[in-house]
Amino acid sequence: MKAINPYTGKVCGTYPRHNQNDLAQIIGKVDSAFQSWRNSGFEQRSGLMLRLGELLLSKKEWLSVLISSEMGKLKREAIAEVEKCAWVCRYYAENAEQFLANEPVDIEARKAFVSYQPLGTVLAVMPWNFPFWQVFRFLAPALMAGNTGLLKHASNVPGCALAIEQMVEEAGFPANVFRTILVAGAELKPIIEDPRVKAVTLTGSTPAGKAVAATAGAVLKKTVLELGGSDPYIILDDAQIPEAARLCASARLLNAGQSCIGAKRFIVLDRVYEAFLEQFLNEMKAARFGDPLDEETLLAPMARLDLRDELHQQVQKSVQQGARLLCGGYIPEGEAAFYPATVLADVKAGMPAYDEELFGPVAALFRVKTEEEAIALANDTVFGLGAAVFTSDHEKGLKLAEKGLDAGCVFINDFVKSDPRLPFGGIKQSGYGRELSLVGIREFVNVKTVVLK
Ligand code: NDP
Repeated sequence: MKAINPYTGKVCGTYPRHNQNDLAQIIGKVDSAFQSWRNSGFEQRSGLMLRLGELLLSKKEWLSVLISSEMGKLKREAIAEVEKCAWVCRYYAENAEQFLANEPVDIEARKAFVSYQPLGTVLAVMPWNFPFWQVFRFLAPALMAGNTGLLKHASNVPGCALAIEQMVEEAGFPANVFRTILVAGAELKPIIEDPRVKAVTLTGSTPAGKAVAATAGAVLKKTVLELGGSDPYIILDDAQIPEAARLCASARLLNAGQSCIGAKRFIVLDRVYEAFLEQFLNEMKAARFGDPLDEETLLAPMARLDLRDELHQQVQKSVQQGARLLCGGYIPEGEAAFYPATVLADVKAGMPAYDEELFGPVAALFRVKTEEEAIALANDTVFGLGAAVFTSDHEKGLKLAEKGLDAGCVFINDFVKSDPRLPFGGIKQSGYGRELSLVGIREFVNVKTVVLK
């Protein structure tokens, strides 16, 4: 497997793929490790998870360069990502026991309670965009619950996949409670079907999610799917425009726009449209691309050339169909997978910028006359991951968030972000199930009812 640095265009690592024999051995070892790990106590698991968090922090310099070299992220964003992984380790080290404690139920019996028991080995199919965070938000709750993990990471980040395995081992976890397999997505069917694999979690595109869920469904294995999004950001006419424009632009450009919860569609009320547009455009135009390791760079390259070219096609097709290009929208010269910050206005249904996810630094702008129109437009998508509303009227914002917007989470006057303390996931084609918080750790457990007559 080759890792290609999307800034230099050069191979930055080559790793041998696992063959059928290797895979059979690894799965066997992880399954055996489960038989003892399931009986470990919370004290032991917490101690190890805390150590893993500390180890991540002590190695964040090295890890951030590795992340950046494999998928192009700005180094400072990679450091923040590693720090967030340490946070999720600490969070579950401190809370898992309470989240999974037996819960007594008062019925006509001597004793009745609900107990949360681990399922076994869970397969995690993960993407490259946050190559550490996406894995750790699965890994921390899964191991704390007593499960073991098998990681199939995206094929363009094999170095990150192996580094995560190495961190778990260095932290002192028993051998084989968490292993990486280096295989392509297309080779996963027999692994999902393997009786020693009990469940699957996938973060990635909707087609990948559907393929994995279909295989898992045929052998009745639980899945959690965190898929694409086309998050709408609604700017009402009483919003603080400068602050909204600044937050919207950074939410669009974070990670070079390659985030499932990136702000993708900006729905602006007529009365504030021009003011918002001016400031938003200034922010977007100011985001110059450059070397991701350089502290001054504001916009990183995209993770792969093919992803950049696909995005450009979506932009070109939208423009051919009548969208107005306000900035960006071209392929820069050179080897790097750069795409400039791009803004499209007059976007209409039927255009890729309306119907599809734009997984890169491209914003689609919409001008609407009423709040009702804004909500209808926001919900007119196959996705339902995150959404945001900008308004000075907090009551109205809360009402729209709770009852109006079809999404797994809605933020008011802020951009959508994941937080270990809050459930995270989507509805519609954005997937199902939740990660993080109490809800996330209970996804891969047997919710067992015990009754003593
Ligand atoms: P994919 O969804 O194809 O890849 C994500 C993971 O799924 C990878 O580990 C991949 O493995 C695996 N995978 C892909 N197809 C299958 C399959 N049929 N069966 C089993 N596993 C599979 O993402 P891409 O890298 O191709 O990116 C394409 C688009 O996906 C983006 O433009 C974006 O829209 C979306 N995406 C969403 C993410 C999110 O956070 N929700 C993250 C990344 C991408 P392998 O790498 O070996 O193919």
